[in-house]
Amino acid sequence: MFRSIKFLWVWATIPYVTALEFKYHNTKELESYLRDINTKYPSITHLYSVGKSVTGINLWVLAIGKYPKEHTVGIPDMKYIGNIHGDEVVGREMLLHLIEHLVEMYEKDATITRLINNARIHIMPSMNPDGFEITQRTKADCMFSNGRYNKEHIDLNRNFPDAFENNLSPLQPETRAVMNWILNETFVLSISLHGGAVVASYPYDNRRTDSKFKPPSGYSKCPDDDVFVYLAKNYSYSHESMHSGDECQNTPYFQDGITNGAEWYHFLGGMQDFNYISGQCFELTVELSCCKNPPPNFLEEYWNENEQSLINFLKLVHLGIKGQVMNMDGAPIKNATVEVQGREHIIPFRTNKWGEYYRPLLPGLYTLNVTVPGVGSNTTELQVFNNMENFSALVLNFHFNINTTDVSSLTQLQYGTASGIQQNTILLISIVIFSALIY
Ligand SMILES: [Zn+2]
Repeated sequence: MFRSIKFLWVWATIPYVTALEFKYHNTKELESYLRDINTKYPSITHLYSVGKSVTGINLWVLAIGKYPKEHTVGIPDMKYIGNIHGDEVVGREMLLHLIEHLVEMYEKDATITRLINNARIHIMPSMNPDGFEITQRTKADCMFSNGRYNKEHIDLNRNFPDAFENNLSPLQPETRAVMNWILNETFVLSISLHGGAVVASYPYDNRRTDSKFKPPSGYSKCPDDDVFVYLAKNYSYSHESMHSGDECQNTPYFQDGITNGAEWYHFLGGMQDFNYISGQCFELTVELSCCKNPPPNFLEEYWNENEQSLINFLKLVHLGIKGQVMNMDGAPIKNATVEVQGREHIIPFRTNKWGEYYRPLLPGLYTLNVTVPGVGSNTTELQVFNNMENFSALVLNFHFNINTTDVSSLTQLQYGTASGIQQNTILLISIVIFSALIY
């Protein structure tokens, strides 16, 4: 008897880390979970807040990566955002489970380890914590509750500056914080998680409405439509059932489980269009559940359905090409434009302060235009192939001689010199210069 009691006591004192429960975590529980993860995995996580909600709740982000605290040249940044609509609660919990899975599998699972070593993954479980709290206090409703909006009764996914229409919705602190975050980081890919349907949606959500450009009904095609379709299908076909397209009774049939945003219904001020147009970040809007606020006993099933999609999407950050624009001494050139002929953006894609660009592209032949304002431009034809198995986009750096007007000696393309630590995984791409610099 004595021995068995002693055994029980010893067993009870062994540190035991419980798996994350499938339940809804309130603000306090969410914060302490993120802090615990950060404490337990300090070398691969970094916890930070991008700002506060109307009531002062921090908008927490956990960054996961080999170098989680700051951007590293050559390593792409990407993000997941949950719960922009406070009553669409499944995404918030899925992201907590994704965090747990990633950190626990680091250095145990080869793919997860390479995903974490070769990208910085920013996860914001809740962009609308005030709305979530309201939802938790009201009766659960599958289709709508007051918690959709923030505390000022504003729909945050209608609150972003819009390239097609003037947005009169007063800018909210949550939106401003996320806008600054998008504009200050160089995010390549993103997903915003919603509920109320089961589908992966892609830009544009809005379309031209002025008299000169009569809106075509339905589909609002963006210059990178092929890339977005690929990204969306990757999600829907990695998902257990999304690709069937007929998951919910209250939504239309979605071929392949994907849709162009405006083809489903168009709206102004969405975060997805802002990411793509102003942030040069390819964001999908993924709807996870027919019911916006399902009972917690369904959460494990949702996790099983979405786990592979959420993980597979991380690898897609290595689609296409990336590199730096520099002068002949290797100093980075900021705000050089990097555009692909035939798919120019409303706001041209520009290099960041490290002179970097990231350009998701499907395999194929492209003509790339790199322009340093006031100096000149370079047109390069290039064959892009899929290099994702190496957990790196293809690397193509550009050197501009910005101290001379001698066109003949102005530039030289460098064949894929890798930036920093990814040197071993880089394959070179073949390029042919057919147009020299123009001063
Ligand atoms: Zn939503």
